[in-house]
Amino acid sequence: MPKTNAASHPSEGHPDIAKVTIGPKELTARCKKLGAQISSAYQGRELMVVVVLKGAFMFASDLVRHIDLPLQVDFMAVSSYGDSTKSSGTVRILKDLQKDVLGKDVLMVEDIVDTGLTLAYLRQMLLGRHPRSLATCSLLNKGVCRKVEVPVEFIGFEVANEFLVGYGLDFTQRYRNLPFIGVLRPEIYQQHPE
Ligand code: 5GP
Repeated sequence: MPKTNAASHPSEGHPDIAKVTIGPKELTARCKKLGAQISSAYQGRELMVVVVLKGAFMFASDLVRHIDLPLQVDFMAVSSYGDSTKSSGTVRILKDLQKDVLGKDVLMVEDIVDTGLTLAYLRQMLLGRHPRSLATCSLLNKGVCRKVEVPVEFIGFEVANEFLVGYGLDFTQRYRNLPFIGVLRPEIYQQHPE
């Protein structure tokens, strides 16, 4: 039987994590607040939530539970980093949306906006499909790393220039399942030279 005792979750003592930046309770509380903010911003309208895979899958699933509006969910998969920790500057669409966004109120859900290159590209692409409106909700924002100016209407947490994993975010496709956001121990990166 799985344990339900929150005190026993694995944020304490994960062998590869140097420090926990945002814990599960903070993540839950922020999703609740963002959900309320989004619900009031779009009151009386229907949302098309576009989840940007893979990194935003966990955040999006928690966030939509707190959005009190009629909504549809669609997914888009993009790759901007390959398996390394630096931006390549090029965005590849691995999976496009199934639904047409023409005339819809589209809310993109992102894991993190860093240089802004990925979001700027996706916004251009989606704007070309003529939604009624287009906004972004990003769990994390690394404002200090921005290379292009891009609007992010809803932000979960402002974070420092550190490479983060967990709660959907990966390093070499691992650590997405961690229920918190944290920083890896330097040895882990050194085992995977670029
Ligand atoms: P940008 O194009 O804004 O530089 O980067 C956006 C994408 O890069 C994010 O959606 C995410 O996949 C990846 N990314 C940026 N910073 C981090 C980070 O600290 N950790 C992880 N795991 N991915 C990141």
